[in-house]
Amino acid sequence: MDSNRWPEVRHVLGVDQFDRPFLDRICLLTQEIRELCDKPDGKRLLKEQFADRSAMLYFSQPSSRTYTSFKRACQKLGVDIVDVRDPNTSSEVKGESKMDTIRTFSSYVDVIVMRTKEQGLAAQAAAHLDQTPRPRPIVNAGSGADEQPTQVLLDIYTMARSFKDHGGIDGKTIALVGDLKRGRTVRSLAKLMRHYHDMMLLLVSPPAFRMQQDILDHLDSHRDRVRYEVVDDLRAAVCRADAVYMTRVQDEHDVDGESAKVSINDFCFTPEHLTLLRPEGVVMHPGPRRQELDLRCDDDPRVKYWRQMRNGMWVRTALLACIFATLGKERKERRR
Ligand code: ASP
Repeated sequence: MDSNRWPEVRHVLGVDQFDRPFLDRICLLTQEIRELCDKPDGKRLLKEQFADRSAMLYFSQPSSRTYTSFKRACQKLGVDIVDVRDPNTSSEVKGESKMDTIRTFSSYVDVIVMRTKEQGLAAQAAAHLDQTPRPRPIVNAGSGADEQPTQVLLDIYTMARSFKDHGGIDGKTIALVGDLKRGRTVRSLAKLMRHYHDMMLLLVSPPAFRMQQDILDHLDSHRDRVRYEVVDDLRAAVCRADAVYMTRVQDEHDVDGESAKVSINDFCFTPEHLTLLRPEGVVMHPGPRRQELDLRCDDDPRVKYWRQMRNGMWVRTALLACIFATLGKERKERRR
């Protein structure tokens, strides 16, 4: 594998940093790495490239898929892993500032993958480390209700694979369903749609969970590429959609238990909706799911819920490979 052809990546903080060439290249690289790992010597070859590298997984917010897939991605690259999942076990409880804690971590590893409940903390940490003599890359694995940039990469990869024989992602109609107000994955995905042509977004939610104005403004400013409709009829949306992207209620962001007052019964995907979905359509969900994606749908090949999880591991492997390769190039340049 020729890492000189890989996209150069340092911090991964938000979807605004991704452009179409990057998205296309990361999908291709993900595919290449997957195929390499299928070959008898491929796994070993991949590990040899990054054997001297290390990563910290700093996850102070609950996570199953993102954490485990990053961990497996590191293992696939042969990278040493250090993890902190409970901030109560770090010096933060002794009053250390978050920036000092993160700078401390950066002394020991090459990259910090972090998930926090504080919006913007990953970006703040990246800016802070950039001022230090050891500016290690930060990967945002979810920050508050704002962004989930690596989830969106796996969503794009999943769509690119699913629509490979149907003209790719361009020109597709995507229904985003559920808690669009606080779901960071749908916010990120909606923002990225401007890199594709002739997209239609159907924003399907109860009024209380409508997509926020900042995203609608963003879509308005790219209406030459993305159009959208705010709707509340899931059945009608499924009939029109190429991809249906379901999300759960993000009640961890409630201030006063307000989610319990909102009925989502009309925003749950059931086997009946499968009968309305076109044969080449797909159903996605970032996980964890609750009742909004009926378990009885799982056996339908159009439901990509489980596939997305595996794709997440491969996309994160490709992304970390790019970051480590970029660090390697920087190291070589410094030595010159
Ligand atoms: N796992 C996704 C996230 O990290 C979606 C969710 O939690 O509902 O945002």
